[in-house]
Amino acid sequence: MSELAESPLAAGDRNLSVEQARAAIAAALQPISETQTVPLGLALGRVLATDVISPIDVPAHDNSAMDGYAFASADLQADQATVLQAVGTVMAGAPHAGRIAPGQALRIMTGAVMPEGLDTVVPHELCRVDGLQLRIEPGVVRAGENRRRQGEDLALGRPALQAGRWLKPADLGLIASLGIPQVAVLRRLRVALFSTGNELRNAGQPLEPGCIYDSNRYSLMGALQRLGMEVIDLGLVPDDPAALRATLAAAVADADAVLTSGGVSMGDADHVRDLLAQLGEVAFWKVAMRPGRPFAFGPLRSPDAQQPVWLFALPGNPVAALVTFYVFARDALLQLAGARPQPLPVLQARCTSAIRKRPGRTEFQRAIVEPAPASDSGWQVRLTGSQGAGVLRSMSEANALLVLGHGQGSVAAGEMVDVWLFDGLS
Ligand code: AMP
Ligand code: MG
Repeated sequence: MSELAESPLAAGDRNLSVEQARAAIAAALQPISETQTVPLGLALGRVLATDVISPIDVPAHDNSAMDGYAFASADLQADQATVLQAVGTVMAGAPHAGRIAPGQALRIMTGAVMPEGLDTVVPHELCRVDGLQLRIEPGVVRAGENRRRQGEDLALGRPALQAGRWLKPADLGLIASLGIPQVAVLRRLRVALFSTGNELRNAGQPLEPGCIYDSNRYSLMGALQRLGMEVIDLGLVPDDPAALRATLAAAVADADAVLTSGGVSMGDADHVRDLLAQLGEVAFWKVAMRPGRPFAFGPLRSPDAQQPVWLFALPGNPVAALVTFYVFARDALLQLAGARPQPLPVLQARCTSAIRKRPGRTEFQRAIVEPAPASDSGWQVRLTGSQGAGVLRSMSEANALLVLGHGQGSVAAGEMVDVWLFDGLS
């Protein structure tokens, strides 16, 4: 891994901006390549390994977009009512056999195949029906309207979805609409996770004096599960070099990436940093951000040496751990999993309060984005309670991170700011 010496990963203790750190991480990673086939019903959140090519036209035939009457546009009168004779009904799934004579129409249901020779549908509420006679006033419908074209959704032989697609609910429906019951996906990324700190206890255990419950592992487990990743839960590890070494070795043997929280600062008990230097060529970064220091990233030597195992050593403070996950680990893990870039949605919103900030670092404040009051328009954003890096409630109440960029100074109330929607748009 000596080539790292020339890369931004060799930044060591130099202060990197958030953008530099993100770019350096992205440049270092190679996605996994092992694939597997899964039934379509289990493919949500998986990453497509190959393009899905449409084996058919969708729809397979021209069909009606409305419940109404199908007729030939040649019968349509421009400046007087068109009068037609209804001679039958065509239902979805039961194509009409035979031809229709000029001046005739067929009652047709949404999705029914357009009968031969007919090209236009008038919705039933837009025409007058008297027995079998149908009257369409001029201008109500134009030639060819309310007909869905064969292949309009997906044409035979064209890629319906591309490799690297992180499958969403509508994608599953789209693939099913092609008649394809299973898909080739990349295997799930395996991410090992543990928390470090002598003071940590598992939820469900008694809390001894001076101890706290481990929350980071649960926040991060949730964040990883939402990305569709396989979590290898390695539990709690005390601030003890031998225990840390053994846990890191187990992680490296099993996982594509390792997420740790705690123990990377300069405190006496902080051994992760030293161990990293022994087990890989890990760049220890001072990233110019708040919250989020300290944060370390780099390759650990893996037993098969094909691919390094990527370590993201997140800070222990519960808010900082999640913020650094969203800022550095989320996109990187998706990249490792083979997904095309899926950045969190960024929105501009009006800030409801003034915020003090000095240029030279990026700040992430926990915030709630909501529609602006009716008198205004667009979105507004307000901060959630105490913004201390240990106050997890500020993160739990938030639906977004308010991001003040590296070069940005203080913000006045009413100014527009960037927000990252970490819960997505749904
Ligand atoms: P550290 O990064 O280890 O110096 O930890 C910074 C602060 O975060 C300390 O107050 C720790 O007790 C706290 N902390 C570290 N890990 C966790 C965790 N897994 N859950 C909750 N708090 C933690
Ligand atoms: Mg600690």
